[in-house]
Amino acid sequence: MDLIDPFGRTIRDLRISVTDRCNFRCTYCMPEEGMKWVPRSEVLTFEEIERLARLFVERFQVDGLRLTGGEPTMRAHLPVLVHKLAALGVDLSMTTNGSTLRHMAHELRDAGLQRLNISLDTLVREKFLQMTKRDELERVLDGIEAAKEAGFGPVKINAVVERGVNDDEIVALARFGRDHDVEMRFIEFMPLDATGHWLNDKVVGQDEIVAALSAEFPMELVPARGAAPADRWRYLDGRGMVGVIPTVTKPFCDDCDRVRLTADGQFRTCLFATTEFDLLKLMRAGATDDQVAAEIQRAVGTKWAGHQINQVTFVRPRRSMSQIGG
Ligand code: SAM
Ligand code: SF4
Repeated sequence: MDLIDPFGRTIRDLRISVTDRCNFRCTYCMPEEGMKWVPRSEVLTFEEIERLARLFVERFQVDGLRLTGGEPTMRAHLPVLVHKLAALGVDLSMTTNGSTLRHMAHELRDAGLQRLNISLDTLVREKFLQMTKRDELERVLDGIEAAKEAGFGPVKINAVVERGVNDDEIVALARFGRDHDVEMRFIEFMPLDATGHWLNDKVVGQDEIVAALSAEFPMELVPARGAAPADRWRYLDGRGMVGVIPTVTKPFCDDCDRVRLTADGQFRTCLFATTEFDLLKLMRAGATDDQVAAEIQRAVGTKWAGHQINQVTFVRPRRSMSQIGG
């Protein structure tokens, strides 16, 4: 049975946050002092994650699972979970800050992980330290190489662009992607930073990003994005692709096929949702699969037409990106 929301969109993609913990403190995501972590007893176990993922895949025909966080590689024994989820036979990917990939990439690949997105917002060491509060640029660059060596391909690199912080590096990051055979994807800064410093002025919009890129590299738009969040361009000299995720300036909510599960088992139908559905509590109270499925359908029945970032009625979610899972 398909999972269809009130606006006729079919849900196909489940993002699973496996931990809210993180070894970085990216300024656009978390306060420097970190967040108050969810106690372990309130985090979904691997068995609970597998049960929910199976339900989404087998009952609701979801065909993509993405592991995220917090930093997913901070979750102990992550390859064990990857192995369980890979057995469901759908597209299995992960978003990571890349800092642990030198020692984990092969194991994750062997466990059945298919695709990797790695976050990298700057190529300048001091700025990396300023943005993540960790002096680990070299480790992340090495992690990207490790991911390629382990056979992940194409590796995609996510860069959140914040005006006055790293917007001067758009071309340099794109060049990095071209030179290292990875696909750069620029993400518009969203109001999901825990510190509340997001302002519309700090968003560098897709048009500006594309203008900067095409002044340097001739490129053409690749038509038909489908449900994927990124608009993509092909470099005319054949050296790969580049993407932009224009959540703020050109929302793609009409094509959204995503839902999310937080590390503490809260089901969310939008990144910016202000309501959550407590699947952890339901499962731990002994609910059957039919009952859990009914709650998922009820939740999807409340999915919004789209976020309202650009309207006065917009209400920031209580949680930050690191707690929701990007
Ligand atoms: N820790 C992993 C990482 O950084 O890739 C996975 C979780 S992180 C929350 C997922 C993605 O969300 C990352 O690509 C990150 O850059 C992005 N992100 C975090 N805060 C953001 C914000 N305020 N606006 C836009 N993207 C954001
Ligand atoms: Fe951690 Fe990812 Fe948030 Fe950075 S963006 S603080 S790496 S969860």
